[in-house]
Amino acid sequence: MNLKLFAGCFVLSLGVCLGQSIVRPDMAPGPTSEPKQPIIFDLSAIDKTADPCMDFYKYACGNWVAKNPVPADQVRWGRFNELAERNTWLLYSELKAAAESPKTPLQKKYGDYFAACMNVDLADRFGAKPVQPVMAAIDGLKDKKQLGALVAELQKKYAVGVFYGLSVQQDQKDSSQQIATAMQGGLSLPDRSYYLADDARSEKLRGQYVDHVTKMFVLLGDSREKAAAEAHSVMAIETALAKGSTDRVELRDPAKRYHIMTKAELQGLSPEYDWRAYLAGVGIGEFSTLNVATPDYYKAMNAEIDSSSLDAIRSYLRWHALRTAAPALSKPFVDENFNFFSATLQGQKEQTPRWKRCTRSTDMAMGEAVGQDWVKQNFPPDAKANMEKLVAALERALGQDIQSLPWMSDETKVQAKEKLDAIRNKIGYPENWRNYSALTVKRDDYLGDLERSSEFERAHTFDKLGKPVDEKEWGMTPPTVNAYYSQSQNDINFPAGILQPPFFDNGKDPAVNFGGIGAVIGHEMTHGFDDQGSKFDAKGNLRPWFTGEDGAKFTERTDCEVKEYDGFQVAEGQNLNGKLTLGENTADNGGIRIAFQALEEVLASQGAAAEPGYVDGKRDGYSPQQRFFISFGQLWCQNQTEQSARVLAKTDPHSSGEWRAKGTVQNFDEFGKAFGCKAGQPMMPVNACRVW
Ligand SMILES: [Zn+2]
Repeated sequence: MNLKLFAGCFVLSLGVCLGQSIVRPDMAPGPTSEPKQPIIFDLSAIDKTADPCMDFYKYACGNWVAKNPVPADQVRWGRFNELAERNTWLLYSELKAAAESPKTPLQKKYGDYFAACMNVDLADRFGAKPVQPVMAAIDGLKDKKQLGALVAELQKKYAVGVFYGLSVQQDQKDSSQQIATAMQGGLSLPDRSYYLADDARSEKLRGQYVDHVTKMFVLLGDSREKAAAEAHSVMAIETALAKGSTDRVELRDPAKRYHIMTKAELQGLSPEYDWRAYLAGVGIGEFSTLNVATPDYYKAMNAEIDSSSLDAIRSYLRWHALRTAAPALSKPFVDENFNFFSATLQGQKEQTPRWKRCTRSTDMAMGEAVGQDWVKQNFPPDAKANMEKLVAALERALGQDIQSLPWMSDETKVQAKEKLDAIRNKIGYPENWRNYSALTVKRDDYLGDLERSSEFERAHTFDKLGKPVDEKEWGMTPPTVNAYYSQSQNDINFPAGILQPPFFDNGKDPAVNFGGIGAVIGHEMTHGFDDQGSKFDAKGNLRPWFTGEDGAKFTERTDCEVKEYDGFQVAEGQNLNGKLTLGENTADNGGIRIAFQALEEVLASQGAAAEPGYVDGKRDGYSPQQRFFISFGQLWCQNQTEQSARVLAKTDPHSSGEWRAKGTVQNFDEFGKAFGCKAGQPMMPVNACRVW
């Protein structure tokens, strides 16, 4: 899907010493070693040969980068990954215990889900058999008039996302209403540009993609000739859909993805496609109007359905069914799927071990079931209270920041303050856990479990249609190492998974915690005021609240960031896209500023010298301000494959780690002051950008 559920999260995202334990023959092997516990403010990561005023990333992270190459089963390795790896490992032990000796019916259910995924022998014995029912359904398409009903069946029953997605979301202009939303989709490559760009690298990748699709059809049993023809059809249809899709940068503008229509108007966009049959089949309730996010897409889809042969359409559907099921099929399918999507596309050297894949899959399917036990073991009760204090400190700081903004009128400041005061905080895990009783899990049917889980989620989402919003619901599971801000709910959300080192350590000084989790909190709050968030008011409705003059000044300031980040290179010939990353960059830049202000307030009230470990105002040789920036910079230490850097530059609204560290500090003069930089040095430029 091209539309995200959340406005802005923090990263894209998202083992056990079992030497002596019994590994059941039907379980894939588990981890062989315990991932190390990440630490906050890592002195050994600092490269003291680097000059912080010239290249702060090299200074804060140089030794870490040198000592932490990308592991063979990853494409990117940073501090988030370190923590996520440990959370996955902790979760694995819980899932394994539940699979072997569950103590509650809920543990039995998620234990069975995990066991089904881990049963690699069964998957290999089944071969392509689990995918036969969906293939039979597709083969039953004898007339294009039946396509709407078939797409409904594929999406609902088989979790196969073809052509577009249908969801229920809060109405952008009336957040109290939950309405149906149709979103463009139906592609396999990471972005529409992969189909359309005419550079040599893109052309080569398209050739590799067609080869991959061919190989997958051959594995399914088709002749090479037929498989090649099918792959050609897939490429042709996806290319047409890509052409009809709206660019992801354009979609950042809420108005560009908001078009309320009647069902008859939607039908008018694509007369060859039976929307009535689709809507009846997909299991959504009655409605009179919906948001058709990108109307032109449905015209392009209609033209492609009209001009394609029935065979070509079946090939497109068969491919998506196969691609969706591949990770749950036998080894040849899993391997070939890995070869293209992970190795070729992203530069991953080895497959992610099955125990990690299954742990994540179970978390994705039943996150609020496994999360209940996870937080009991891994989220100490005082962590929530400590977070609440930090959030309150950041809220005060943002309030002061708004008051002191040199460019904003008092009239707009009143509105901004109103929005800030209305932001709700959710910390750790949900107050009310999801009920999974309607989900059926079978220990010997992993693909079926994936399909039923998808259907369960779809039903849950569709059930929201026309109902009041559940403000207590979460969009991330408790062990997730991430955070998010929701535009429609105007709330910030911090899962338990991120409230640990390297982000937060109760035993450390405030300087280090404000530079870590403080900057994360500030980032999420600032999302409420970035280029997208600022278009929504305190109630989460799309409504201009800037005066016209302030709106122009805001755009002038965000343009400064767009130009600045456009200039940052992540691989040879590949720069960041300043427009794509604008919201995240604004949140990073505003976030560090208010986290720093909150720290200064603490220091003013209690003094650095009062902190344990400080001698003559320094600890480990650094002032509190320096510790703040080093702690922040070290959140972004990372290595990544060149391929992954290229994919993310085109698709990820977040800048790469190096530039999240450097771009942010070079726009904030307090950094230069803390490290004694001279105006005009790279980390203290004279033309720094500032929005908030
Ligand atoms: Zn963000």
